[in-house]
Amino acid sequence: MEKDIFCKIIDGEIPCHKLYEDDDVLAFLDISQVSKGHALVISKKHYDNFLTTPQEEMHKVMDVAQRIGQVEIKLLGARGVNILTNCYPASGQTVMHFHVHVIPRYDGNEGFILEMKSNEGELNLPALAKEIHNNLK
Ligand code: 5GP
Repeated sequence: MEKDIFCKIIDGEIPCHKLYEDDDVLAFLDISQVSKGHALVISKKHYDNFLTTPQEEMHKVMDVAQRIGQVEIKLLGARGVNILTNCYPASGQTVMHFHVHVIPRYDGNEGFILEMKSNEGELNLPALAKEIHNNLK
């Protein structure tokens, strides 16, 4: 099977601007900086996305994402940070290797726009909540 681009970065076949590395996690600057310091944190073991990653690995990646966000607030003067992970192409995932975006926010003019607007009209929220609740382990 063809290696994905992040597996190639992990194996040193493609260079990156490294921020952090240990046995399980690698963090580096996104090649397309939607804002100054836009970082990616990835699991060294290949998992397709957040939803298919075992908890232990997922926690290690999230820990590094948290630390990078904290540093970017302190060091770069970011006024906020979006921590984002896309799961499956329908959500916008383009690289099928679990990764977390750390996106510093400064003045609102970043190349990243997150808009959430009510879109579903009348839903039966009690029934919906019950159905999801009953399926959580
Ligand atoms: P996704 O849309 O899958 O959540 O995000 C994938 C991200 O990987 C994109 O923001 C894209 O800019 C970044 N990316 C893709 N190829 C490379 C690469 O070769 N090097 C780096 N540093 N980032 C990459």
